[in-house]
Amino acid sequence: MVYSSDALLLGLNRREVADLVEKAGEPSYRAQQIMDGVYRERVRSLDQVSTLPRELRENLSQRGFAVGSPAIQQRFVSRDGTVRYLVAFGDGETVETVWMPEGDGGEAGDGSEAGDSADAPARGWDRATICISSQVGCAVDCQFCLTALLGVKRNLSAGEIVGQVCAVLNDQKVSLPQERINLVFMGMGEPFLNYDNFIKASRLLVEEVGIAESRMTVSTAGIVPRIRDFGLEPIRPKLAISLNASNDELRTRLMPLNRKWNLEKLLAAARDFPLRNRERITFEYVLLRDTNDAVRNAEEVVDLLQGLRAKVNLIALNPGPGIGFTTPAEERVLSFQKVLTKAGIPAFVRRPRGRDIYAACGQLKRTIEIMPVAPPS
Ligand code: SAH
Repeated sequence: MVYSSDALLLGLNRREVADLVEKAGEPSYRAQQIMDGVYRERVRSLDQVSTLPRELRENLSQRGFAVGSPAIQQRFVSRDGTVRYLVAFGDGETVETVWMPEGDGGEAGDGSEAGDSADAPARGWDRATICISSQVGCAVDCQFCLTALLGVKRNLSAGEIVGQVCAVLNDQKVSLPQERINLVFMGMGEPFLNYDNFIKASRLLVEEVGIAESRMTVSTAGIVPRIRDFGLEPIRPKLAISLNASNDELRTRLMPLNRKWNLEKLLAAARDFPLRNRERITFEYVLLRDTNDAVRNAEEVVDLLQGLRAKVNLIALNPGPGIGFTTPAEERVLSFQKVLTKAGIPAFVRRPRGRDIYAACGQLKRTIEIMPVAPPS
């Protein structure tokens, strides 16, 4: 069926659904029932919202209203339990969304230890992280990232961002709020170049789907004006910044956007960022062999982060075809980490998840490249 995107319920907030219900001449409590069906029960079709009278369900369907859930087109399962999903939207565009279970001997997505898994449920995980995409492709030209090779096709709508989460939660049979789910906006795309939809989606995820804001992290390549806007949001995920270099010359080479927003501007925005109680800004640093992985670079990072409430996640490059860098040796990673921790900056080495299925950071391009998907007819 063809419908315009404003007829999709997924992505609408409380006020918008209330509006719609009023226009349909229905009592206002119907809005709550629709919201609960779409976001709490995560129905895929209006027909499944059992609290709505049959006539209303039919009436809405006839007028072209639909939930608008994206479809899971493919699943790739890694040896380490990670699942990479190819998620397709109404126009045939696809993104990748990654499920990373933790607690069965795995490692937490935030670099901390997974903790005691003695009381983990039989299904083998006691918490999980979902990594979601914000755009089809990406416009930021980071030289070590496979997604960058795609360029940007389009922004995702708020409903498409929330829809990825609902699709994966349903596929993994997750009950909220009982089960511990973390969410990272670290998939394909630059969330801060799709700011309004990203913000709307994160609010829906907090207020309607039921994932705490303290369990969500957004990562930006460093869109400085949006970092400043983001600090003013009443509801927001935690902030991570992709630093990836220890001086401007190097950062401009690796991330050309550094020409526009250099380290001075970026770190000024980080310093001004209003942190909540016990919150830290995470700085991600992708280690590239013989490029940015020397002890001297680590010392420069220490200087840059002086006085910031920060932690650093170190990620050894996940390699890929067309990427002109290689992964550093383990000792280099550990020496780099040691410089930071000695200077009092908490630093964690992130183990790659799902490298065998190209699901690790910076690798989200593979499916489209190796398995082109025909748009649905
Ligand atoms: N656009 C956002 C979020 C997506 S990238 C951003 O740039 O932060 C998520 C993280 O993956 C970033 O920290 C990025 O630096 C890292 N990354 C990109 N390519 C990588 C690769 N090939 N290996 C390891 N990490 C990579």
